[in-house]
Amino acid sequence: MFVAPQRGGKPDDQALASRFGDVSSGPHNWCPFCAGNERRTPADVGRVPADASLPWRARIVPNTYPITTGQPVAEAGGEDREAGGRHEVVIESPRHHGSILAIEADAWRDVWSLCRERLAIIADEDRHAWATIFKNSGRKAGSSLEHVHSQLVAVDIVPPVIRGELAALANDTAVFPRLIAAARAGGRIVSERGGLVALVPPAPRQPYETWIVSEQPDPHLHAAAAEQGAALADLTRDFVGRLERLAPGSHFNWWLHQAPFAWSAADARTSAGWHWHLEILPRLSEFAGFELGTGCHITTVSAEDSAQRLRDAAG
Ligand SMILES: [Zn+2]
Ligand SMILES: [Zn+2]
Repeated sequence: MFVAPQRGGKPDDQALASRFGDVSSGPHNWCPFCAGNERRTPADVGRVPADASLPWRARIVPNTYPITTGQPVAEAGGEDREAGGRHEVVIESPRHHGSILAIEADAWRDVWSLCRERLAIIADEDRHAWATIFKNSGRKAGSSLEHVHSQLVAVDIVPPVIRGELAALANDTAVFPRLIAAARAGGRIVSERGGLVALVPPAPRQPYETWIVSEQPDPHLHAAAAEQGAALADLTRDFVGRLERLAPGSHFNWWLHQAPFAWSAADARTSAGWHWHLEILPRLSEFAGFELGTGCHITTVSAEDSAQRLRDAAG
């Protein structure tokens, strides 16, 4: 559990609008992520283009309301300790867009290459156990700010979900190839590009849940070939377009699952078959008592139908 009381002060769009202007005034008056308001965020730790004399198209800044600063992490059966790491915001456009679909395809590829560069720097810092990039798009997905952005977190623990995936890999070194093969055999492939496969998992938690999986074993996104970074940009944009056609205005989350950075000798053996992947979870219905209490999910659209509808919704 992360205890982060400073995040209680995190403003939303309404609060920012009333502090810096009024709600009816344009977002450039109050949105901290809009071009011209850079003074309302910490200085950037990465930007596109790198030349600071040119206008930025995407930038990464430390999160003003981080989950990783100086607050205890309670681990099951363990001692409370400080949560070290990094928590940063990727501002994906200088303009106040609410959807990544408003970002040109080339500019969206630049966003992902900036993220890969930043992940490489964080990996080289050699003091984090694991890092991810995640996106909350829309209020149902937990977003408090409309302006397109995602978040980058590096932590000094390997989170339970990743430990679970490592345990699955320890039991079956071919778990990822089997996942892809089963999706091919079961008609659950949505699209493929540049060595990446977009597939609907066998037990989706929501209609249209889709994972983008590296076809070859590959632990980390930042170290993957440049074409894979571009393919990931294209596949995420393509997916959001399909989702928008199927369920307009849908909110969604995505998160990157990489292998841990620092492996023990034992972990290195079991992580050898890791394939980095991005899990995309549309938020079409709420998670309720049954889901939260059992970990079982009820979805109104089968995995096969989800994949078929997503294929039919090609742009
Ligand atoms: Zn904005
Ligand atoms: Zn995963």
